[in-house]
Amino acid sequence: MLSPVKPVIDETGAEIFALAAKIYPICRSITGDGVRQTLREVSAHVALDVHEVPTGTPVLDWTVPREWNIRDAWIKNARGEKIVDFNRSNLHVMSYSVPVRQKMSLGELKKHIYTLPDQPDLIPYRTSYYAENWAFCMSHRQFEALPDETYEVLIDSSLSDGHLTYGEYLHRGETQDEFLLSAHVCHPSLANDNCSGIALLTQLAKRMSGLRTRYSYRFLFAPGTIGAITWLARNENGVHRIKHGLVVSMLGDRGGPTFKKSRRGNTDIDRAMVHSLDHSGLSPVIEEFSPYGYDERQYCSPGFNLPVGLLQRSKFGAIPEYHTSADNLDFISPEALGESYRLITDAIAAIEGNAVFHNTVSKGEPQLGRRGLYGAIGGDKDAAAANMAMLWILNLSDGEHSLLDIAERAKLPFAVVKRTADLLAKHDLLRPAGT
Ligand code: ZN
Repeated sequence: MLSPVKPVIDETGAEIFALAAKIYPICRSITGDGVRQTLREVSAHVALDVHEVPTGTPVLDWTVPREWNIRDAWIKNARGEKIVDFNRSNLHVMSYSVPVRQKMSLGELKKHIYTLPDQPDLIPYRTSYYAENWAFCMSHRQFEALPDETYEVLIDSSLSDGHLTYGEYLHRGETQDEFLLSAHVCHPSLANDNCSGIALLTQLAKRMSGLRTRYSYRFLFAPGTIGAITWLARNENGVHRIKHGLVVSMLGDRGGPTFKKSRRGNTDIDRAMVHSLDHSGLSPVIEEFSPYGYDERQYCSPGFNLPVGLLQRSKFGAIPEYHTSADNLDFISPEALGESYRLITDAIAAIEGNAVFHNTVSKGEPQLGRRGLYGAIGGDKDAAAANMAMLWILNLSDGEHSLLDIAERAKLPFAVVKRTADLLAKHDLLRPAGT
C-alpha cells in the first residue's frame, strides 16, 4: 500500500498546498466560527464528524471556555483613516480580545499593542485565551512612526457561552486497533503552523478512505491543548485502542524534518518514523520526548502515555518566521508538503506491513538458485539490495524478529524488505509466526 512515485508526490503536494491556501485566510481561534469554517473545508474532502462541546463542560482538569467570534477590528488615526485593519491581516488582533470601542491617546493605545522590535517589519501572533484583555499587533516600524494624537479603536468581537468545535474522521480498517493522526486548528492566518498540517491530514484521510488497511485510522482536527484535552476526556474509554499516533504541525517548509519521539520512546511509531526519516535522503533531526510542544503533551501525559510522536519540518519556535506574519503562503511549498506526506506514508506502510515470520528452511541456507530466486533479480543496485534483504530475512526470521527489526538491522528501506519477504513467502520459504 501507499507507495507513491515521483509524479504522484508532486501532485499530492500541490493538492495539499491548494487546501492550505484555501484555509489560510480564515480567522481561527480555539473556539468560534473560524474553526467551523475550516472544518467545513476539510469536510469537502472527507466525511468529517463535527462535534460541538458546550462552554462550561468540565474536561479533565480544564473547562471548555466561552466561544470567541470576531467580525471587524481597526485603529483609526485623528483623520479617521484606518491605520490597522483586521480585514488586511487577522494577526492584527490578539486572539480572544474582548470587545472595545473608544478614543484614546497614543500613550493609552501603546499599552494595548504588541510588536517585534527585532523583526520590525513583521506582525506578531498573540493570544490571551484565559485572561480577559484586548490588544492589537502590528509591525514595529509602523508602531514607531505613530504620531502623538488621538486614536479610535474598535474590536467588534464577542466572548460568550457557545461551544468548542472539533472534527474527527475514522477510516475503519480490518482491526479496531487505531492509528491516531492529530492536527491543531486554532491558529489564524499562519500557513506552516498549522494550515500545512490540517491540509496534509485531509489529503491523507482522503487517500486512506479508499484503501483496505489493517489498522483503523482516526484523524483529529481540534484546537490546540483544550481541543485535545476535550477529545481525551470524551474518549477516555477508547484510547486503549490507539496503538500508534502522530501529531503533525509545520509540515510545509524546507527545514528538518524534525521528529520528537513519544514519551515511551521505543514504540512502533517511534521506530517506523525514524526508519522513514533515515531513508528519506533528507537531514532529519530526531529528538527524545520532552513535555513541551503540541498536543503530544496531552496524549503523552502519564495517565494516557499513548504511543504518539510529533512530526514537523522546522522545529516550532526555532525559526524567525514562527508565530509571525512571515509564516505565510510563500513560506510553504508543494514540494516540501509532498515530501512530508511521503515521510508519513512511508512510516504508515512500515506499520501496516510489519509482521514476524519463520524461515521454513532454517537449517542451512535454502537453495535460492533452484527456486529461481537469484534469477528473478537483475544485476542493478536494487537487485543487490533485494539479495541482501533476502539473506537478512531468511537469517532473522526465527519467529522473534519483525520485518521492521530486519530493515533496521540490514539498513535497508522497509519497502525493499517487505517486497522481498512477499516473494519469499510466495516460494514457501516464510510462514507467519504463530502458524
Ligand atoms: Zn503555534
